[in-house]
Amino acid sequence: MKSLWFFLAGLFGGLGGLGGEWRWAWVPGLASALLGAMGARKRFSGLAPIPPRKGLPVTVPPTPEMENEDRRNDTTRAFLKGDLAMAGQELQARETRRLALQEVEDAIDATLFDGLTLLKDAVPKGHTYAVLFPGKSEGYYFRAWITSSDNLVPGAALNSNQGLAGQLLKENIKRVLEGDIVADSSQLHYYSSAEEKIRSLAGVPIVVKGVRRGAVLVDSREPQAFDSGTLDKLEALAHIAGNLAYHAYMAFEKGVHADQLTALTNYQRKFLENMSVENIVGHVQNYMAECLEGDRFMVVERKERHGNTARITSCLGTSAADLQGLEFSLLDKGLVSLVFEKEQIINRAFPPNPYVPRFSPGEKAQGRMASLLAVPVPTDQGLDMALVVESARSRRFPEHQQNMLTTIARAAGFALSRARLYQEKEQLASRDGLTGVDNHRTFQERFQTEILRAQRYNHQLAVLMMDIDFFKKVNDSHGHPIGDVVLKDVAKIISQSIRAGTDLLARYGGEEFVCMLADTDRTLAAETAERIRESVATRVFEAGSTRFQVTLSIGGAMYPSDSKHGREILEKADKSLYRAKETGRNRLVFYN
Ligand code: GH3
Ligand code: MG
Ligand code: MG
Repeated sequence: MKSLWFFLAGLFGGLGGLGGEWRWAWVPGLASALLGAMGARKRFSGLAPIPPRKGLPVTVPPTPEMENEDRRNDTTRAFLKGDLAMAGQELQARETRRLALQEVEDAIDATLFDGLTLLKDAVPKGHTYAVLFPGKSEGYYFRAWITSSDNLVPGAALNSNQGLAGQLLKENIKRVLEGDIVADSSQLHYYSSAEEKIRSLAGVPIVVKGVRRGAVLVDSREPQAFDSGTLDKLEALAHIAGNLAYHAYMAFEKGVHADQLTALTNYQRKFLENMSVENIVGHVQNYMAECLEGDRFMVVERKERHGNTARITSCLGTSAADLQGLEFSLLDKGLVSLVFEKEQIINRAFPPNPYVPRFSPGEKAQGRMASLLAVPVPTDQGLDMALVVESARSRRFPEHQQNMLTTIARAAGFALSRARLYQEKEQLASRDGLTGVDNHRTFQERFQTEILRAQRYNHQLAVLMMDIDFFKKVNDSHGHPIGDVVLKDVAKIISQSIRAGTDLLARYGGEEFVCMLADTDRTLAAETAERIRESVATRVFEAGSTRFQVTLSIGGAMYPSDSKHGREILEKADKSLYRAKETGRNRLVFYN
């Protein structure tokens, strides 16, 4: 008895000293602190971090192979029940996380096992001693045990209707104490034999923070083997086991969440960079896949703003190839449509049959998905995107996962709003931001007007398409910022060679410029083009201590001799430019 109190004091000494930031690492430390306290006992002399299991009486290893991995992962969540409603982002690589959890589980197992060993000393009449934790489904399962029986079902699962021990799952049962069991032992639901001859049973629930999270029990072949003193001892162990597991799991979850928050910060920072709409979609997709434990991840968008057709713009995971690009009508009222229609979050678990259509009635099931989580992506321009995650496992998206996806969706919505605004502004602007000359759109508009004017006054006009030679090399050798300087300077050189207010100059693409020379014949156009080419070729640029030069290839076409249509003239100038490149660069080529 005394030893049990030693044990308790050691545990709370250990727990009390933890404080500060909980990380996974202390869990094994906690277990060994516990063992340290137990070092007062002869059997555990020495401070072995792992309890010596060999010399102990008849035992069954505490972690049976059957389904164990699966069950344990669920235990974490089941054990903590509602306490996991912490928002945050899950970015910890899954494997690292699995290993960390494994370590926590091992430490818990070791400690439970030692607790049971101690219990066995304190309650010697027992046959089987066990700690039960919540399992995947509703009931509990045997998490750790010491038994003299050959017939104990390893990792046996119990629900509230199963035998005397099942009573412990019921909310109103505080203790089970039986001394005169006459039924055969198979009715206890944890022995495979009916001949175990169990006569007594005592058990108490594990309650932490007012929530039932398991049970501790002992049975015996002797009648009336236990009394209220036994129950006190069971309660002491239930208290220890419960608190230890609670705090260990909590510490694990908090560790994960700390990592997730760091990831979230990085992720949001990324979104603050100027990203294009396309980039954002790709980004969100990857982030979802990294953070959520799903089997399929989708970004669903309205095809047109405020339109009724939606499209899976991006899909990762199970049957992705079949779903990518799938279009459906929001009027068909598939499950995902609700996100758009009602702006609500959908978090559903499904039985395998009948299949619930996700997008439109009559669609084929793509893989066996048992849970779906879909959240809206709110933007300043309205709701036209949703993020969808599916899992083959049932009830896979507890509240904290839902919070996580909502956070991702909000960040994405914010980034999207900004990107769209930027795009619109850009389109509204008439000038190119870098060089200050007209942009492509402005050129197209003005050029059409100039063609009409030339038509009316019977003038000729020339178009010069210009492209810097091997500009990629400039970027590669001197860096993008120097490349930008070159672009600005080239634009300046060209604009100084043409008539302001009469001729047009625009940045046509990356390192491509277009010029329109009004009321100009081919000879004059060629002269101007040559002047531009030479000015650029003789210009010396500097990158640190390095000096370098660039050249320009120019293709020309004339109105009306090459064509009377604006678009064709541009095409012919472009063809000429191609010829100039083909035939050696740093040269002027006119059409024909
Ligand atoms: P070519 O002689 O055939 O024209 O070769 P090139 O290397 O100039 O042609 P290419 O079209 O392969 O490369 C154009 C490069 O221009 C690639 C791109 O990185 C660069 N570029 C486009 N826009 C910008 C810009 O705004 N700033 C900078 N620094 N580089 C740009
Ligand atoms: Mg080029
Ligand atoms: Mg180019």
